[in-house]
Parts: sequence; structure tokens; C-alpha cells
Amino acid sequence: GHRAAGSKSDVRERTLIAVKPDGVQRRLVGQIIQRFEQRGFKLVGLKMLQVSDDLLSQHYCELRTKPFYPRLQEYMTSGPLLSCVEYLIVWEGHKVVQASRTMVGHTNPLEAQAGTIRGDFSFHISRNVVHASDSLEGAQREIQLWFQKKELLNWDCFDQTLTCEV
Ligand code: GDP
Ligand code: MG
Repeated sequence: GHRAAGSKSDVRERTLIAVKPDGVQRRLVGQIIQRFEQRGFKLVGLKMLQVSDDLLSQHYCELRTKPFYPRLQEYMTSGPLLSCVEYLIVWEGHKVVQASRTMVGHTNPLEAQAGTIRGDFSFHISRNVVHASDSLEGAQREIQLWFQKKELLNWDCFDQTLTCEV
């Protein structure tokens, strides 16, 4: 359900953003991070890694039986057209899950609005540059999967009062 806007618990809302291998290959990492920074989100965890088939199937557990899953796995994990690495970013802020999905845009880049990351940087669903958790529950599950607790840093953001007031 929806909490009251600006309630304290919103400040704890976190989401998992990943720059997919095509985004790393195309040197879009800086621009994508910049969009979240300029929106006012707070970076609390960041790492680069090669995703294993096992981690990916846990991450996309709801998609494992889809016909496109083998293609998705190849895209996200390895192969000559793909990067072997990903950037992972955990952002924290007011309504961050919803806001980041809006910033990322439609799953199919051809339907994504201009101004969104996918709408600006991609044109194919198999190369859509970025991942964003689609719900609070999904975000919590994904963050636990990708990050150890000690890898997420609690730090005071001087403008936090601005970002949590409505
Ligand atoms: P997202 O949350 O917007 O990333 O979309 P989903 O969670 O539904 O799917 C995860 C990823 O799988 C998408 O970002 C796409 O890269 C890929 N994907 C989803 N649907 C399709 C499809 O119909 N065909 C192909 N080739 N890839 C898909
Ligand atoms: Mg998804």
C-alpha cells in the first residue's frame, strides 16, 4: 500500500539500478550515474562485476521460463557482443523505486519516452542499457542478492531534508 508522502520510512526506500553490459561497453556509465545524482538520489553502494548464470537466474527468477530467457542470459552474462561486467548502483531516496522506473523508461526502448534513459540511449529490448527494480519488495530482494550488508554505506547527505520533504 501507499504510505503518506514524505513519511520518514520513505527515506529508507532503496532500489537497485544496474548499467547492463551494453551500457558499460558504450561508455554510458557516467551519464547514467549523473542522471540519478542530478535527480537528488543518494548513492549508498556501487560495484562492478561479472554476473554468473546462477546469480542472473535468481535475479530474474520470474523470467526463467520465458522463451527469451536464454537470450537475456547471454546478454547479461557473456559473449562477444556483450560486456563481461556490470555496474551496480543502489540508490536511496524519496519514492526512489517509482522515480527510477520513470527515469529508466519502458522495457521496450521503442516505446520509451524521449528523456528517459532507455528512450535516449537504446532502441532494442535485448539491449536496453539499464536495469531498475520494479517494486519495493523486488528492490529488497535484489539488493540482498547483489550486495552484502557491509557494502551498503550509511552516510549523512547534507540535503536529505530537502529530498524527503514534499
Ligand atoms: P524491466 O523491468 O523493464 O527491465 O523488464 P522485465 O523485468 O520484464 O525484463 C527484464 C529484461 O528482460 C528487460 O529489461 C529486457 O532486457 C529483457 N526482456 C523482457 N522482455 C523481453 C522480450 O520480450 N524479448 C527479449 N528479447 N527480451 C526481453
Ligand atoms: Mg524487471
